[in-house]
Amino acid sequence: MPELPEVEITARLVGAAVAGARVESTLAPGINAVKTFDPPLHALDGAAFVAEDPIVRRGKQFVLRFDNGLVVLLHLMSAGRLQLYGRRAGPRDRTSRVLWRLDDGRELRLREFGTKQAAWVKTLPGIEAVDAEESVATLGPEAWPDPPPFGPLLAHARPLHTLLRDQRVIAGIGRSWVDEILWQARLSPFKRGKDLSDAEADALRQASIESLGGAIDHYAATLSLPLPDRLPLPLKVHRRQGEPCPSCGEELKAVHYEDYTIAYCPLEQTDGKVLKDRRMSRLLK
Ligand SMILES: [Zn+2]
Repeated sequence: MPELPEVEITARLVGAAVAGARVESTLAPGINAVKTFDPPLHALDGAAFVAEDPIVRRGKQFVLRFDNGLVVLLHLMSAGRLQLYGRRAGPRDRTSRVLWRLDDGRELRLREFGTKQAAWVKTLPGIEAVDAEESVATLGPEAWPDPPPFGPLLAHARPLHTLLRDQRVIAGIGRSWVDEILWQARLSPFKRGKDLSDAEADALRQASIESLGGAIDHYAATLSLPLPDRLPLPLKVHRRQGEPCPSCGEELKAVHYEDYTIAYCPLEQTDGKVLKDRRMSRLLK
C-alpha cells in the first residue's frame, strides 16, 4: 500500500531524525525478510547513518545510507512500515522484521502487518550496487517531481490503469494513487496508453505530478514522528465508490478485482458508462 508519497514522507521524516545516529546492533526477528548474507546484517553495527540524506527513495523503495559505505535497500511491499521508536521493541511484537538499534536507545524498525511476509531488506556494498539491483535497475522514470512526457512513455496497448502501476514504465504509483491521478485527468482507467491524445497525455502527466506532490505536501503539513501504523491517505475517489464525486456530484463507481478495486467517476471519466463489475459478473455466472 505505501506508494511514492508515503515512502517519500517517511524517508524525509525518519531520515531527518536518524541523520548521524549510530547503529549499536541489528536484529532480524523476521529472518526471511533479509535477502542478502554478504555483507552480513551485522556489518552495520557501529556504523552511523550519513548526516545528509541518510534515507532516500527509489520508486517505492528506501535506500538507507551509512558512513562505512554500506547501504540498505528496503521494500515495504504491500503491508510493511518503516518506523522509528524512542524505545526498543519487545519480543512480542510479531510485526517486527528487522530492527536497527541505535546507540541512543532509539530503534528503527521494519514492521509488517498481515500474514504475508513480503517486505524485504538487502544490505549492499554501495550505492552502485543498489543501482544494479533488478528492483532498481528496471524502474522507469520517477513519477514525481518531473517525469518525462507521458505520450511516448505510455505508448503501449495496455490500459492506463495497468501502465501507470507498472514500475518498469513509471516508478512510484500503485493502486491508491492511480485512481486519483486518472480521476483528476478525467481519463478512463481502461483507455489504452497508445490512444492518448497529446492534450490527454499532458493532462495525465500534470495530474500525476499534482496528485503525488499534493499528497506529499499534505503529509509534510500534518504528519510528525512517530508515524502512525496507518497513514491517513488524502484520497478523493479511491475506496470511495458509492459516494458523490467531489468534482461533479455523480456517484463514484468501482470495478472489483481479486487484489484491488478501481474507483472512477462515470460522468467525467467514462462518458457516462458504468463499467462492468467483473467480480459481480463472475459471481452471477
Ligand atoms: Zn465526477
